[in-house]
Amino acid sequence: MNIITKGQSDQLDFHFIKEVKERSCQPLDLCYHCQKCSAGCQVASYTDFRPNQIVRMIQFGLKGELLKSSAIWLCVNCETCGARCPNGISISAVTDTLREIAIEENVPAAVKNIPIFHHSFLNSVKSNGRVHEPVMLVRYKIKSGKLLEDIKMGMDLFAKGKMPLFPSRTKNKDLVKQIFDRAEKTDFKACGQNNSASSAVERG
Ligand code: SF4
Ligand code: SF4
Repeated sequence: MNIITKGQSDQLDFHFIKEVKERSCQPLDLCYHCQKCSAGCQVASYTDFRPNQIVRMIQFGLKGELLKSSAIWLCVNCETCGARCPNGISISAVTDTLREIAIEENVPAAVKNIPIFHHSFLNSVKSNGRVHEPVMLVRYKIKSGKLLEDIKMGMDLFAKGKMPLFPSRTKNKDLVKQIFDRAEKTDFKACGQNNSASSAVERG
């Protein structure tokens, strides 16, 4: 692993692990690098760092290097890593936290336009209770300026019925909206805030 040689000792942030642990609620000290998370990760072969390397970089304080990485943006939050980890560490919660920190600290995303994709996806879920792919993609294309890219793929998906013209709305659309509203008002910087926000929604 060449992670350490990528960081300069004067750029290490020894408070970084405390910050990520508190915000993600993950017991990162328990990781002993068995790599079960990386072995199951479906995007590990496309990213600059694998899931266990993300944890290692946090432990070493390589904040600057990690916030600039593609790994934090390409994680698809599938939770495979969390299900496989013998210590119950969810890298998904960690990458969410790292994205938040990167945005707060104005670190540009390593993968261009991916924050626009995330926002387009979330806006679609907020509007319909679940994602409506055509509207989400139109929003993404307009905001990213990539209007003509992937047209053939879009037509193929449409022909196969994978791009429905009308959104399929969930019965609990209002509940989903409540989750968004409360999430937008909640300070997630302290461990446990995620749970309290979702519990509040459940209590209605
Ligand atoms: S599976 Fe868990 S303990 Fe093993 S390397 Fe990944 S995060 Fe660390
Ligand atoms: S949640 Fe992210 S890091 Fe974990 S297995 Fe899925 S894609 Fe990989």
